[in-house]
Amino acid sequence: MFRIGVDIGGTNIAAGIVDESYRIVEKKSIKTKDAKTPSEMIGAIAELVKDLMGTAQVKPEMVTAIGVGVPGTLDPESGKVLYANNLGFEDVPFLSELKKALGDILADKIYFDNDANAAAIGEYITGDYHAKNFVMMTIGTGIGGGVIINGRVLRGCNYAAAEFGHMTINFDGVDCNCGRKGCFEDYASAEGLMNLAWEAISSPEGKKSMLSSRVSSREELDGEIFFEAVRSGDKVAAQVLEQYLFYLSEGIINIINIFQPDVLTLSGGITKAADLYLDRLKELVAKGIYSRNSSKNTEIMLSKGISDSGDIGIIGAALIYKM
Ligand SMILES: [Zn+2]
Repeated sequence: MFRIGVDIGGTNIAAGIVDESYRIVEKKSIKTKDAKTPSEMIGAIAELVKDLMGTAQVKPEMVTAIGVGVPGTLDPESGKVLYANNLGFEDVPFLSELKKALGDILADKIYFDNDANAAAIGEYITGDYHAKNFVMMTIGTGIGGGVIINGRVLRGCNYAAAEFGHMTINFDGVDCNCGRKGCFEDYASAEGLMNLAWEAISSPEGKKSMLSSRVSSREELDGEIFFEAVRSGDKVAAQVLEQYLFYLSEGIINIINIFQPDVLTLSGGITKAADLYLDRLKELVAKGIYSRNSSKNTEIMLSKGISDSGDIGIIGAALIYKM
């Protein structure tokens, strides 16, 4: 038997057929922007799924479930996508339209969830963490994630729980795109780290850093250049990293204090350089958590997940029905 996962991203809509061992046996994608309206997009998703089933010679009766990861807030009762900023969706009757487009045989097997929840489900199931309570935190341009409590994904009333990135850690901080100030992701995302680094090398003392000789604008600065500087012993870069880890640890401590997961995983591009900071991060978190004197505490580790984030999105979507 097979499951089908559809991952709606800002650039591509990727779909895959997933087998019993959580491997993608066939994968296809289309451009998100090719669809001009929500109805067009739902029609295109249905066509993509049918096309995939045709290529893989998978008949409807061989499909256990079809799951769609949507980047937005969802209403499970009405099957509507309430709001998806990147897709321009507002109050779209997503599930009913997709069921109609896919036809009667598949209609009862269709599920949807927020894309971050889907990724967390994929990571939790395929990573086999032996954890009842589990948090996945993804550090990219922003910070997102998912929470599993007692083996079930915590969806919240509109499927948008676990928006870790928009927890304030600095009340007088920078303006965030969500309308508040000093959100976690403004400081602790990959973008946040680059902002801290740029600020540091723009100061008089920062001129001594090898970073100032390598980049002349904020746009030229990236994670690779930054971590290379840390690796070669650049003092300014090391100070920036320490400041960044302070922000990152504050957010992680908040999350651990609230959920007390058995395991908290970190994923995202920035974890490629984790050998430079994971031990220090764990140390900062261990000092700060409320239950620091307990013998058992949350284990922080790198996500074991499939390195391709698109694949974990597809596999997670395919497994939504399980959680
Ligand atoms: Zn925010």
